[in-house]
Amino acid sequence: MGPVRMVVERATAVPGAAEASAQLSAHGTAEVRFLDAAGKPVGRRRRVKVEPAPVLEAPAAGGGITHVATEPLIAFMTRLPKGAVAFRLDEPGRDVITPGIVETASPRPKKPDSRRRFGAQDARFVLAIMAERFDREAAFHADCRQLLAAIEATAPFSEMPGRVAVEALFWKSDPGKGLFGPLQMGTGTDLIFGDRKLTAAFLEKSGVRSDLAIVLVNLAKRGGAGGTSKFPAWVTNQPSATDRWEDVAIHEIGHAFGLGDEYDSPNPQATSDIEPNIGETPDPARVPWAHLCNVAGPGPTAPFNGGATLPAGTIGTFEGARYQQHGRFRPQFACRMRTTRDPFCERCRELIRARIA
Ligand SMILES: [Zn+2]
Ligand SMILES: [Zn+2]
Repeated sequence: MGPVRMVVERATAVPGAAEASAQLSAHGTAEVRFLDAAGKPVGRRRRVKVEPAPVLEAPAAGGGITHVATEPLIAFMTRLPKGAVAFRLDEPGRDVITPGIVETASPRPKKPDSRRRFGAQDARFVLAIMAERFDREAAFHADCRQLLAAIEATAPFSEMPGRVAVEALFWKSDPGKGLFGPLQMGTGTDLIFGDRKLTAAFLEKSGVRSDLAIVLVNLAKRGGAGGTSKFPAWVTNQPSATDRWEDVAIHEIGHAFGLGDEYDSPNPQATSDIEPNIGETPDPARVPWAHLCNVAGPGPTAPFNGGATLPAGTIGTFEGARYQQHGRFRPQFACRMRTTRDPFCERCRELIRARIA
């Protein structure tokens, strides 16, 4: 038997040790000791790395979007010593846990059970959708078709039908357990995601080339998490009282077109690159979308929290964008890159059009 990848959620912090633990775990390690059926240690003792926790984008109430700190998963590749059935994981400042090997071993990356394309063969933008917690292929395909229809009904995609296609990658899995777990859920937020490295490995194994990959989780709880160039995004197929689940996915698609976030809640891990729908000056004549502006300077067109009473078609400089309340400007009052329930603003539409025309 070759190497196995083990994945466990971090143990609960020991009361009173939370601060010490937070410091230790920033680049910390944990000790692993394999145990046999009688609970006796087998094989060598080893140390495994605790990766720093990512801060991930997550949908919030009322169409909002926010960034949420997560707990890292502890993952490591190992050969199993003879007789090992569990292991003891000891991280400073945390409870000691003894997970079973069968329960925590990752599935080996494999090709999808089926692959189906929805939309044109010569589409300009390909979205890969990975099935998680679906035991029925038909139900997964119905959701894929529903998402593609929602994209096609969203401007500017609605102006140019047939430019987006979906590659539906179906891996059958237990609806209660799935393949890409364990799932993490943020308390008090709509953050939901699982083992990001594992999904990237499964996607690579599929051989599908896509502009963006989303893990679609069949779960009766609204949620999701943003992706990166290395890791797929996550979205559940559950709407909220005010928002369709497809809208969260379409916001993520906006990122794949190079659009930046237009909301102003903080993101402690933000990079310094500024996207072309974000301005750093209040002057409408000097922002990257100056050719679209229909108001004159010096600006801002609306200060932070202002602009709600301006005519809906106003294009200028609205203060509050890209994780800051001040000093960053967005083109219009509302945009899908700010709240998931709104349409894309004119600037974002222009940028998407330029890539799919
Ligand atoms: Zn975003
Ligand atoms: Zn926009």
